[in-house]
Amino acid sequence: MKDVIHLLPDHVANQIAAGEVVQRPASVIKELLENSIDAKASNIQVYIKEAGKILITIVDNGVGMSLTDARLSFERHATSKIKAAEDLFSLQTKGFRGEALASIAAIAHVELKTRREEDEVGTCIRIEGSEIISQDACVTSPGTSISVKNLFYNIPARRNFLKSDTVETRHIIDEFQRVSLAHPHIAFSLVHNSSELFQLPDTNYRQRITNILGGKTNEKLVPVNENTEILKISGFVGKPEYAKRTRGEQFFFVNDRFIKSPYLNHAVTAAFEGLLKDKCYPSYFLYLQVDPKSIDINIHPTKTEIKFDDEHALYAILRSAIKHSLGQFNVAPVLDFERDPTLDTPYDYEKKHASAPHVEVDRDFNPFKNEQRGSFRNDYKQESAGWESLYSGLKSESSGIDPDVGQIEFESEEVTGNLFGAYKSEQVQNTTFQLNKKFIITTLKNGMLVIDQHRAHTRILYEELLKSITVSAAVSQQLLFPLILQFNQPEIELLKGIKDSLEQTGFIFSEIKSDSVEITGIPTLILESEVEMLLEQLLSDFENEIPENNFSQTDLLAKSLAKSMAVKSGNLLNSTEQQHIVNGLFACKEASITPFNKPVFITLPVEELEKKFM
Ligand code: ADP
Ligand code: MG
Repeated sequence: MKDVIHLLPDHVANQIAAGEVVQRPASVIKELLENSIDAKASNIQVYIKEAGKILITIVDNGVGMSLTDARLSFERHATSKIKAAEDLFSLQTKGFRGEALASIAAIAHVELKTRREEDEVGTCIRIEGSEIISQDACVTSPGTSISVKNLFYNIPARRNFLKSDTVETRHIIDEFQRVSLAHPHIAFSLVHNSSELFQLPDTNYRQRITNILGGKTNEKLVPVNENTEILKISGFVGKPEYAKRTRGEQFFFVNDRFIKSPYLNHAVTAAFEGLLKDKCYPSYFLYLQVDPKSIDINIHPTKTEIKFDDEHALYAILRSAIKHSLGQFNVAPVLDFERDPTLDTPYDYEKKHASAPHVEVDRDFNPFKNEQRGSFRNDYKQESAGWESLYSGLKSESSGIDPDVGQIEFESEEVTGNLFGAYKSEQVQNTTFQLNKKFIITTLKNGMLVIDQHRAHTRILYEELLKSITVSAAVSQQLLFPLILQFNQPEIELLKGIKDSLEQTGFIFSEIKSDSVEITGIPTLILESEVEMLLEQLLSDFENEIPENNFSQTDLLAKSLAKSMAVKSGNLLNSTEQQHIVNGLFACKEASITPFNKPVFITLPVEELEKKFM
């Protein structure tokens, strides 16, 4: 039999390698930015068209290349950055694999123009699918400019796999931000379809962070500095009160390279322990310097993961450095163990004499009797102004159910089945009560029903919102003063993408700037004080799961808003509120599960109860 093994031709090998290095336009941006930084550029400009799918151009004023180097730079494993494996242990550059240019040239139309300061003329090379098309002398300023056109033109499957322009632009902005945050002393700009997204002058770390995230970021930063033998930390953490619903503002840089590390992230979170609101994430921009010998960045071609020699020590140092900073800047509360607790007794109280407890019995009290409407409605008004507004939309529109009627009317027989059928015909006055501030219990003729209050309310709001987004334009409440909320660049991009759907729910955006939005109207279902939290949660949901089409965008929007707006476990509900939920729930198209596919209620038939007593 003949031998069957042969070496793959270069262009095939390059294409395969490209699969690992280049996943999307953003990966090209990252590789090219890193090359420009390695070439000691002090000014780097990025231009993209249609989210980089059509064109990516990066222009730097770095050292440039000689004619021979320019030609060689497109060969696989061609690099000026290491010569031997040992060099990996003292790596000062971003690149070292010599794969990026070869990979990019295998899957796009590339034009390179480069000139060294000392050369009179520069070199221009055009290369398509690993094949050199032309190579000429050219006039160009010192430095390098690379244009990458029609990415994945020869791999249709990959090209089709690319996401919408909004999504791909977001990925590009992410990479751009990571690199520019790591190098504040280099000036960067990013222009998309001739609109300027970023223009970042040469500056310091603090100012660079502020320039990128915009708004009042500067006031929110607490400096962190620590110098130990194995680790130098500098950078900032966000004050706990500004913690966000999104993880968007969390950055670790190790030796000027952005990395992801769930382990170190945990160290930061641990330092913030007890200072954050539920489900909020602290912002941080932490720059770690370690001996290049003690890390291995070789484990992934896109190099956002690295391995540390002594992770445990880094964890401990990081956590204590942040704790220290938070304490020093008076952000963390200080516990005073010396304090004499008796001094804390209120003055008046001390003089009072304790009297014997006095027991009063209300002999008319009957827990199973329906409450008196009049008195009950009064305190409902006082206590729960917020609650009412939650329902103001529901009352009028949802299903024609009058919240004052203490009866349950079930509209959807299919869902609720026989259990309710029997009940409906009898129209018995019904009582609900709350268990553990989490469940609403109500009785049926044949048993009882235990409803999870948060899930039920989520289902109700979800269907309401879907309806208002898809069918009718929702009513919005005009704000007396416009609400101005700060967001960072990617968040603004996301917001623009979902603005139309949001307006369908009742939001009115009067202005969207590059770092803030002005809101003049909000849905009637929500309170002004909740808007910021709601939008943050919404953006974070969209970041994690970016929907491709309009239908799933609407769905995700409704889910996210419903989840944030719904009453939480732990909230005490009065009976009107409880009955709202019960009535609203059974007017839903699909009452039994939440939009997240969790059960909303369980039933406990009398027979089962009886079995338990046997
Ligand atoms: P690596 O960065 O891993 O060395 P690349 O394929 O990205 O591999 O680049 C190959 C070589 O081309 C680099 O080692 C460098 O010498 C040269 N090069 C790439 N981009 C630039 C640039 N913008 N300016 C100067 N030289 C560059
Ligand atoms: Mg490189």
